[in-house]
Amino acid sequence: MRPRYYCDHCNKGNGSPSAMRRHERGCTANPQRICGMCSMLAREGGPEPAPPLPILLDTLDAEGFKAMCELANNCPACILSALRTKNFKGDAETPGGVLGPEDGRESWSYTKAKADWWADWNSAQAEREYPY
Ligand SMILES: [Zn+2]
Ligand SMILES: [Zn+2]
Repeated sequence: MRPRYYCDHCNKGNGSPSAMRRHERGCTANPQRICGMCSMLAREGGPEPAPPLPILLDTLDAEGFKAMCELANNCPACILSALRTKNFKGDAETPGGVLGPEDGRESWSYTKAKADWWADWNSAQAEREYPY
């Protein structure tokens, strides 16, 4: 039997300790997370990484979902980590069960947001590679 390693923050398991450490660092259930998507963008000259989770949560509560998304540079992983604290149901990737006003958070989809993010990333990447 191969050993399994489990994330301290969610229930995800992996057979490799290094892959699990990588996951834990950016896990959207980890309050101290370092966002892999944000740092990837920043490395390519994109916007500064989204502020830490407590600031995103303050903005979500004080100014609403849209303001929080803007502050997070629309980073799906950062938005997910904020919404997750609002009692997301199930695997946290399906909308429903988000506490608070229905200001967009209730219909937001991580799967869709992530697909959009990658589409943006790919088109920006193409511009970087072929500037003319
Ligand atoms: Zn995790
Ligand atoms: Zn992020």
